[in-house]
Amino acid sequence: MRVILVEDERELAHSIKKGLEEGGYSVDVAYDGEEGLYMAENFPADVIVLDIMLPHTDGLTILKTIRSKGIKTPVLLLTARDALSEKIKGLDTGADDYLTKPFEFAELVARIRSLLRRTAEVKEAIIRIDDLEINTASHGVRRAGRPIRLSAREYSILEYLAYRKNTVVSRTEITEHIYDESFDRDSNIVDVYINYLRKKIDRGFKNKLLHTVRGAGYILKEPER
Ligand code: CA
Repeated sequence: MRVILVEDERELAHSIKKGLEEGGYSVDVAYDGEEGLYMAENFPADVIVLDIMLPHTDGLTILKTIRSKGIKTPVLLLTARDALSEKIKGLDTGADDYLTKPFEFAELVARIRSLLRRTAEVKEAIIRIDDLEINTASHGVRRAGRPIRLSAREYSILEYLAYRKNTVVSRTEITEHIYDESFDRDSNIVDVYINYLRKKIDRGFKNKLLHTVRGAGYILKEPER
């Protein structure tokens, strides 16, 4: 899953980015409002984490601008303590949630997950496809009750496919949602990871769940009965 983080406090921004990346998210950071608005308008993202107090363009203006352009990406606002009017204004402007500074990193991640579930078909923390279980809270993956070890990249690709289970997802969509802007999009790295995933998830099982749809992409789906 891909996150745009707009936060001018560099130290905080770095620690959030690092923490999210360790959790398998890809993160693009903007350090001021102008850059943040550009990213929010132009980069695909699953969630935007938006600080309100920013140099050049403040968070509420960014939010208002992207909503007026029809961009529906879920937005989590970061607000100062006691700034009740900001919170209300934020929600009225189209924010999906807010978090008051200072916050625990675990709470930030839980709120991001909850926003991702809200927009996905899947509403529970554990996504099930046949006997495959993906726990989006712990990042634990099991098939037929047996734990499967995945790297952070493998997990994030699997989770993205799982959030959109039974739907064909193109290689471009996967690349856009899994990798940040610094990633080389021309490489065939997605195919490589899909092959790893297929081995880890489907090998030895009669029912295959991860399929390539020629010319279209990939699909994680329930076996046909
Ligand atoms: Ca700030």
